[in-house]
Amino acid sequence: MKDNNSLSKTRGRAGVSGSDLTVYACSVHTHTNLCDGKATPEEMAKTACAMGVKYYGFSGHSYTDCVSDRGNVLPFEPDAYKKRVLRLREEYENRDENRMEILLGIEMDNLSPMEIPPEGFDYWIGSVHHLIDNNLNNNNLINNNLDNDNLIDNKNSNKNSNKNINREYAVDWDREKFIICRDELFHGDVYAFAEEYYKQVGDMAEKKPDILGHFDLITKYNEDKSLIDENNLRYKTAALENLKRADINKSLLEINTGAMARGYRTKPYPADFILKAWREMGGRIIITADAHAPDKIVYGYDIAIESAKNAGFRESAVLTRSGVVMCKI
Ligand SMILES: [Zn+2]
Ligand SMILES: [Zn+2]
Repeated sequence: MKDNNSLSKTRGRAGVSGSDLTVYACSVHTHTNLCDGKATPEEMAKTACAMGVKYYGFSGHSYTDCVSDRGNVLPFEPDAYKKRVLRLREEYENRDENRMEILLGIEMDNLSPMEIPPEGFDYWIGSVHHLIDNNLNNNNLINNNLDNDNLIDNKNSNKNSNKNINREYAVDWDREKFIICRDELFHGDVYAFAEEYYKQVGDMAEKKPDILGHFDLITKYNEDKSLIDENNLRYKTAALENLKRADINKSLLEINTGAMARGYRTKPYPADFILKAWREMGGRIIITADAHAPDKIVYGYDIAIESAKNAGFRESAVLTRSGVVMCKI
């Protein structure tokens, strides 16, 4: 996704001039029932347009071999998804009025066997949803006492998959699985868990996604601060050292309200100290809703704006098919 601070090109498609542009005109982290969302692409686009969104991006979850991802991610060859989104683009960009630009995106998972950057997309979000235990081999799985939903199904793995993957632990599935991951993979040391999680996030950041997804997803169930002390030096060091691996010129850091919309948190990702560090690095932000339902398309943007301002940001990105446009917040 190239940079473009001129709005002249974007006016044509979405009918927005620079001074009218706000962050509410852009929602590019969204899901549909083609992955784990609740509504069809058509329903999501229709509601977005009615809400006044001018730059709407679909970002279906990329394929993984994880058993728990079955039915929740796109197929390895997401051609049907692409066609469906591009059909909506035709419809919404060729209107006489109520035009909306449609971006074809994808949220790439750290365990996805798809190549990076993914081909044929306008943009991609880089996200870490899982940690894996590489020390296990297939025979160990038989003796494993975790429920089968947590295991990678090696028999049905895509031929392009990483064969070293044996077991996945979803970071964000629920509190119970978080604790199982902490205790089984890291012997109860939540800071070792955080160090490995952020290392994976840093690895993803080095692949230069257009958007770096929910940077501190590991805090999803930490609203009551009972799982992680986010002021712990090991925790902060892991987060900040890996934030530095991101390219401020290539990646936008998202302020993501998705967990607020689903009632897990009262504040968006990421935490203030991460946002402040990103600003000091000279990085740029984008506000996203990680919307899984039509009524969440710009959910919590007001709180995200406050969070951005609190960290010292004065601008946030709008993603367009012509590139990134910064607008005042
Ligand atoms: Zn995600
Ligand atoms: Zn998402």
